[in-house]
Amino acid sequence: MGVQKLEQLYEGKAKKVFKTSDPDLYWIEYKDDATAFDGKKKGTIMNKGVLNNKITTHFFKLLEGKGIPTHLVEQINDREQVVKAVKIVLVEVVVRNIAAGSLSKRIGLPEGTMLPKTVLEYYYKDDALGDPLINDYHIQVLDLATPEQMKVCAEIALKVNTILREYLKDKKIDLIDFKLEFGVHKGQVILADEISPDTCRFWDVETREKLDKDRFRRDLGNVEEAYKEILKRLTGETI
Ligand code: UDP
Repeated sequence: MGVQKLEQLYEGKAKKVFKTSDPDLYWIEYKDDATAFDGKKKGTIMNKGVLNNKITTHFFKLLEGKGIPTHLVEQINDREQVVKAVKIVLVEVVVRNIAAGSLSKRIGLPEGTMLPKTVLEYYYKDDALGDPLINDYHIQVLDLATPEQMKVCAEIALKVNTILREYLKDKKIDLIDFKLEFGVHKGQVILADEISPDTCRFWDVETREKLDKDRFRRDLGNVEEAYKEILKRLTGETI
């Protein structure tokens, strides 16, 4: 890859973003830092950066192959990717198949309840406000995206759900819920950020064991092992 990594643009909770010699491309570095509960819980998950880089790359390539536009250009090494430069849409899109986490808390469905239909939710990506739940009206009032852009986000999110659910079922993993972020690149809405155990709930189909960040959030132990297990089931790779 001919592009050079230039100055850091931004440091998030899980990744750093750098400019490159090509204005259309960014350089991403995945970190081992882990946070939960709006940054109130902090820690490190050993090798998380490597694992999430590999897992995200695997999912994004799978999705690209099924016609979903993503920001991924190339995985550079264990911790780094080159991606298309996007302006992130400040709406986090959550897709849910089975009740868990904040949904169980908010509407009282016990964790593990199969939802009779897929649930789509939007959250305002704003740390100071604690990422509040919002709807299409709020998105228009805050001018976070156009109705057309949100239609594309929703369509992609539901397609990603169908593709990943089926794919993961074969790997004996239930996709409980997940969060997506989108970016605008040359006027087009594309999938950005990551898809990893940080942003999804994965449960073993047989044992219902949690193989995701809930192990960190809830102090369940074996956090790194769970992320490794996901990579192994997806690609056969052990690190
Ligand atoms: N999620 C995420 N980032 C966030 C909030 C949620 O990636 O800032 C993911 C989370 O891992 C889960 C899904 O979105 O797979 C739904 O999370 P929920 O709303 O239940 O919130 P939580 O219980 O994590 O507070």
